[in-house]
Amino acid sequence: GTCVNVGCVPKKLMWTAATMAHAFDDAVGYGFSGVDASLDWSRLKAARDAYVSRLNGIYEANLNKKSIDWIVGRARFLDPHTVSVGDRVITAPHIVIATGGSPFVPTVEGASLGITSDGFFDLAQQPRRVAVIGSGYIAVEITGVLAALGSEVTLVIRHDAVLRNFDSMISGALARELSADGVTLVTNAVTSTLEMNADGRTRDILLADGRRLSGFDTILWAIGRTPASADLALNNAGVQVNADGVIPTDEFQNTNVDGIYAIGDVTGREQLTPVAIAAGRRLADRLFNGQADRRLDYTNIPTVVFSHPPIGTVGLTEVAARARFGEAVRIYGASFVPMYHALTTRKTRVEMKLVCAGPEERVVGLHMIGHGSDEILQGFAVALKMGARKRDFDETVAIHPTVAEELVTMR
Ligand code: NDP
Repeated sequence: GTCVNVGCVPKKLMWTAATMAHAFDDAVGYGFSGVDASLDWSRLKAARDAYVSRLNGIYEANLNKKSIDWIVGRARFLDPHTVSVGDRVITAPHIVIATGGSPFVPTVEGASLGITSDGFFDLAQQPRRVAVIGSGYIAVEITGVLAALGSEVTLVIRHDAVLRNFDSMISGALARELSADGVTLVTNAVTSTLEMNADGRTRDILLADGRRLSGFDTILWAIGRTPASADLALNNAGVQVNADGVIPTDEFQNTNVDGIYAIGDVTGREQLTPVAIAAGRRLADRLFNGQADRRLDYTNIPTVVFSHPPIGTVGLTEVAARARFGEAVRIYGASFVPMYHALTTRKTRVEMKLVCAGPEERVVGLHMIGHGSDEILQGFAVALKMGARKRDFDETVAIHPTVAEELVTMR
């Protein structure tokens, strides 16, 4: 799947490398000198690839330990209970579709001159001048990594903001941090053509409004992913599929055909590995462990964007909360430079927001960007899932000095 091979895992290693690059800069303020921060990209790539291969081996061993037959090849439905893989035919009363998705590349002229996140992980050398087209998770994560590692990055944004679906506080703060890290943000930029230059090496982007962005050695599409459902011959099984490739499921992961289920990215729900895993475990409990009502609750799913600095968010944005609860919404916020930066020249801010609703001020949304947000969020997500009120946050004694303490000391 994507996560281990060309997603979360190698991305997190790149994110860590980029975080280290920042730390080398920051170390000077703490009295260190002679920090040699030059990066050997190919050594990093080789170590990263070896780690992923090791994980592949561990997964393989785990399947074998559990006596699971695994068959390598492309599966196609023959009927609702039968699939073929090559010349093998397999029948089963229950079939789960968990094929995920792949990066979407649009049909604009010259589109194939751009790579995707898959190609990013193949890069043998660090790209020097890069354009990233997109404004979602992958666009801002790869932009952050490359900028921290010293590439010159232009982020080409179709509308006027990154992470537009996130709380506006997050979206605005990240745009400021990206700019501070040297990233050029080009907004209201709809790509119409990619062109190779006469040097056969650098590429240009032509925008629909006539602007030209020039001289990139790498252009990367990060504009969403397409469900991998086209090659499954779903029509042979009568499984409904939407025009965009999404296989619709009910809240129990059932497709429209009895005995065929779908989980993960192919269902068009939150495209997050732990969501797919959680849905799969609950489906197994329901089918084979006597828990007839077991299903995944898709509300309050915490998510982290591994941007620089990282973002953590769970629950409703302020706008969504106001739409649902109207006047009964109260917002608490904090904005500060964390103590990590007390002695550094580089500064990144922490911004936090608690969205509370109703007379009890139940915390229905928690949004943060800045140092440590990635690790802080998980515990607070438990609190939200349990229905914590602002008062419960206030009753919790702070841990000082940390970034996290600000979440329980907001007035
Ligand atoms: P996203 O859906 O996050 O973002 C893609 C964005 O690109 C859209 O929201 C849209 O933003 C913009 N876009 C869409 N079409 C075009 C276009 N033709 N030209 C320019 N911009 C366009 O997709 P990603 O590919 O970044 O990631 C896929 C999913 O993978 C994520 O949604 C996430 O669920 C998952 N993921 C999770 C990560 C994590 O957990 N840390 C990391 C990486 C991925 P707008 O409408 O504002 O223009």
